[in-house]
Amino acid sequence: MEILANFSLKNYNTFGIEAKAKQFVSVHSVEELKTVLQENPTQKKFILGGGSNMLLTQDIDALTIHVDLKGKKIIEQTEDAVWVEAKAGENWHEFVLWTIGQDFGGLENMSLIPGNVGTTPIQNIGAYGTEIKDTFVFCEAMNIETFEIKKFTKEECKFGYRESIFKNEAKGQYIIVSVVFKLTKQKHKINISYGDIAAELTKKDIVTPTLKDVSNAIITIRQSKLPDPKELGNSGSFFKNPIIPKSDFERIHLLHPEMPSYSVSETQVKVPAGWLIEKAGFKGKRFGDAGIHKNQALVLVNYGNATGQEILNVSKDIQKTVKELFDIEIEAEVNVI
Ligand SMILES: Cc1cc2nc3c(=O)[nH]c(=O)nc-3n(C[C@H](O)[C@H](O)[C@H](O)COP(=O)(O)OP(=O)(O)OC[C@H]3O[C@@H](n4cnc5c(N)ncnc54)[C@H](O)[C@@H]3O)c2cc1C
Repeated sequence: MEILANFSLKNYNTFGIEAKAKQFVSVHSVEELKTVLQENPTQKKFILGGGSNMLLTQDIDALTIHVDLKGKKIIEQTEDAVWVEAKAGENWHEFVLWTIGQDFGGLENMSLIPGNVGTTPIQNIGAYGTEIKDTFVFCEAMNIETFEIKKFTKEECKFGYRESIFKNEAKGQYIIVSVVFKLTKQKHKINISYGDIAAELTKKDIVTPTLKDVSNAIITIRQSKLPDPKELGNSGSFFKNPIIPKSDFERIHLLHPEMPSYSVSETQVKVPAGWLIEKAGFKGKRFGDAGIHKNQALVLVNYGNATGQEILNVSKDIQKTVKELFDIEIEAEVNVI
């Protein structure tokens, strides 16, 4: 375990931003993580997973700890259910495929989401009508100050839409080292009601889809819609879909009758941020090497050598214009560092 100085993070963030870590270390076990924390008590720490949900706007003046703990296993099972544990550094999509390969159900709708398992609880990742909270049982995390391992149950994680305790009260205090999920072994709850999944399955004449069929359909849809970070730097959806009071929406809707919305509760509605950004005229726009994807207004992209600051400036411009046009505030989903 070697601590490297002045380390380039360009290949460690999916935006492909050039930023240097003052110090960088990859840890492969809980013991290594503890040693690094114990031996560097006064250093500021920055935690890195797959780098797919961050915009680096500056060099990291901290000890960057790349969480690379590997391993996945079944820890318990009954006739109907199985509890699986994955270490934080496991690649999420590979883990999902591993569960599907054993006919364990529950994660298939989140196929092809980039990043690592240990980061999934932080923003309660979700896609195609499913969120991590639906199968999450608990995670274990090391306290950065005391090095103790604490177990966080689903309730303690306080999951919300792209939210958890790790983005709020517990921010910067814990490093997640493993996550446990409860999956189905039979009577899978296949969910193809969202987006184009059903249409994709129909194209392939699949009437009774298996977990693998659902996963394959989602992979095909995602590959056709989202830019591959290996080819075009990006961090997926840059903004969250704003959730606003119904009364506000009704007022705004009178001025913009074509504005779509989804009911969240009796008093709140969600408005698609991509629609707002597209209507504000940003879709496909390019400002130097920073831009907005031509097919996905929610996705900001790095055409090559954009700095994090340039992408941040574009995001602020979008937020300001959307606010002026629609009186709706849109918030970044990506962690701006
Ligand atoms: C093309 C593309 C598509 C995407 N689609 C989706 C989608 O459909 N749904 C969705 O929810 N997200 C999506 N994302 C966002 C991203 O994949 C997820 O948020 C993912 O969980 C981030 O994981 P990561 O390991 O890359 O996190 P990182 O970017 O490495 O880290 C994210 C944050 O967590 C902190 N962190 C990292 N590891 C740990 C740890 N072990 N303990 C504590 N803190 C830690 C970091 O400091 C940072 O603040 C997409 C991203 C891309 C590039």
